[in-house]
Amino acid sequence: MDCIFCKIIEGSIPSKKVFENEHVVAFHDIGPKAPVHILIIPKKHIATMNDVEGEDFALIGEMHKAAQQIARETGVAETGYRLVNNCGKDSGQLVFHIHYHLLGGESLGDLVGPKA
Ligand code: AMP
Ligand code: ZN
Repeated sequence: MDCIFCKIIEGSIPSKKVFENEHVVAFHDIGPKAPVHILIIPKKHIATMNDVEGEDFALIGEMHKAAQQIARETGVAETGYRLVNNCGKDSGQLVFHIHYHLLGGESLGDLVGPKA
């Protein structure tokens, strides 16, 4: 599978992992847009949020559970953070393996996403 994030999961592309369990992996974004910028992905390859179906919705819950823990561990749970999913062309989605950006560590202003 020619997917950067699947390769990160396998370990054939290096990453700075901050979280891993049976279902979810999280690691530092290579081009951080905020002092804390973590990507949270399911181990299962799902291209976009449009492709989530059936039992996969439980994985979305797992991603939020991971986000809650990572926010605590990176110190932004209290100061606040934003979870962003880009879906499809108009969002600027670049990597077609679903992910949340967890952004925080400074005031994020009125931006709605990492590229806005
Ligand atoms: P998106 O536009 O939502 O698909 O965002 C993809 C994100 O993946 C961007 O913020 C990139 O900086 C990030 N990214 C791409 N390649 C890597 C990598 N090898 N390690 C960590 N982050 C990456
Ligand atoms: Zn993938």
